Amino acid sequence: MIENKKILILGMARSGFEVAKLLADKNTIIATDMKDQDEAKINELKALNISFIKSEEPEALLDDSFDLLIKNPAVFPFNPCVKKAHDLNIPVVNEMEVAYHYLPKNLTIIGITGSNGKTTTTTLVYEVMKKAGLNVILGGNIGTPLSQIVKDVLPNSYLLLEISDHQLIDFHDFKTNISILTNICPTHLDYHGTYEAYKNTKHKIFDHHTKEDIAIINKGNYDAYTTTQDINSTKYYFNNNTNYYKDGIIYVDNKEVINTKDIILKGEHNYENILAMLVLLKVLNIDFKYALEILKEFKGVEHRLEYVRTLNNVAYYNDSKSTNPTSTIPALKSFKNNIHLILGGMDRNQDFAVLIPYLNRVKKVYAIGEVRNRIASFCEDNNIPYEVYEYLKDALKSIVNNVLENDTVLLSPASASWDQYAKFEDRGEEFKNIVNSLK
Ligand code: ADP
Repeated sequence: MIENKKILILGMARSGFEVAKLLADKNTIIATDMKDQDEAKINELKALNISFIKSEEPEALLDDSFDLLIKNPAVFPFNPCVKKAHDLNIPVVNEMEVAYHYLPKNLTIIGITGSNGKTTTTTLVYEVMKKAGLNVILGGNIGTPLSQIVKDVLPNSYLLLEISDHQLIDFHDFKTNISILTNICPTHLDYHGTYEAYKNTKHKIFDHHTKEDIAIINKGNYDAYTTTQDINSTKYYFNNNTNYYKDGIIYVDNKEVINTKDIILKGEHNYENILAMLVLLKVLNIDFKYALEILKEFKGVEHRLEYVRTLNNVAYYNDSKSTNPTSTIPALKSFKNNIHLILGGMDRNQDFAVLIPYLNRVKKVYAIGEVRNRIASFCEDNNIPYEVYEYLKDALKSIVNNVLENDTVLLSPASASWDQYAKFEDRGEEFKNIVNSLK
């Protein structure tokens, strides 16, 4: 419990708002954000005696009378306000760390992190645990801020959390009982400064672990494996010589568990996410039959290589979440048939050359969005057939006329959506709406 403290909350997005409400009655709170907030939100805070101050220089609000800075995960660690808090020896925490102190005891906390695959793995685990009839609450990076759900968490239940590096960085006491690390690769380096700092942050999901706690780690990922050598947890591995994917089959303890023909999810990266889940189920003694039931229906998390439909023997996939060329690679590796690939969106100088080794099944590229002419030159230079359209809908009109039986149509744009859409979800929705209306 946090009491009688003077607290500055930096960032009033949902998590800041919820933690303000959680702490309001026993502390003095000032909330700040560089953006104006909804009238209703400000009134709700006022009613709880919380003052909101809009400021582009929140460091000016902070002095040594404060006991705590609660920082929104998106705020960079070297932000001037955060730096000032460190200089003044004011602890910097985040919403999840605070909420942790309000959880009941006798809880099994499962935390899932990694550079890629967090949402997919967490969603799968959640669906399977529900199917198995367990009392599980989902929170963290997916869905609801922990501060909002602490009161709903019952003793002796499971709390399942997707945890990003932006959250891990400000953990102090937070401890899981089981942590899954899907993989580590260089990303968010602008935020962390160095890859070393990023890896050290991922390591924090095993902090405070003893032998009683469990770590589930991707052994096939060099950085995940080496970064976790010194942790105290009892370790379980996937992507090793007992829990692995080979020739269409997923094995646990060298025994066949899933034939990938029987499930909808595609791609070896997703089979790794499934393996992480299966090892967790084994640890928790949950029958694999629940995983099979879920995987028969599970079409993928929305906008992440999500299966949309098959029409005239042509399958359509929505991977709108792919906002840079690297994230289009796993999608391209997932198909054995010919692909009509929709690429493009905002021009951020992204380099499409990383895709070259994976384009052998691409029959044609449909370049769209602001970056379309650069994609056209890229295709021209690499002898890849292409067409150019400003808008997604026009690319799809042409695709419908070009596809042959057994082809795959893939929206995996390798580009941010902000040239034409507010968010990548809107682009994916448009794709699905058009595809679902095809006759
Ligand atoms: P995160 O929550 O970590 O961003 P997601 O589950 O939302 O991960 O997947 C985002 C994208 O990352 C997917 O569209 C896919 O391209 C890629 N991806 C998912 N799982 C993995 C994995 N295990 N290894 C590598 N890439 C992955």
